[in-house]
Amino acid sequence: MWKYINFCIICVIINLNINTAFAHLHCEASYQYAWAKKNNAVCEYKNDDGTRVDCLTKTHAIEFDFAKKWAEAIGQALYYQYKTGKRAKVILILENPQKEMVYFNRVKALSHIHNFDAEYITPDILDLSNNNECHYTKCKCHRQKHINK
Ligand SMILES: [Zn+2]
Repeated sequence: MWKYINFCIICVIINLNINTAFAHLHCEASYQYAWAKKNNAVCEYKNDDGTRVDCLTKTHAIEFDFAKKWAEAIGQALYYQYKTGKRAKVILILENPQKEMVYFNRVKALSHIHNFDAEYITPDILDLSNNNECHYTKCKCHRQKHINK
């Protein structure tokens, strides 16, 4: 009996670890809008071919992505540069900066060679309230609260 209970506890712990490993804490849009507010950027700018730039500033066309999508982010940013005539910038979201800096370093290395800009942001930009909710009300951090109720 105790063996069975122990086994169950281990399963629950493993399951929790898998969930936290793969699930993002906040939506990409939460980071995008938080950054845009600080930097006077226009969000979701539509190109003439229907593609959308995550954020547009006076100088830059910007693509936001979570760390593991670093390669895709570069391709998208360069395409938006071509479409808008503004300089490409990749902003990588590092929810776990210590572990994910390796992905940003890849983008940074290529940014020097291929002439675009790169920066990273962390959950610090979200200015989280006490219950770890961000300001973007459609974010999953708000949904989670309703599910738990
Ligand atoms: Zn959130």
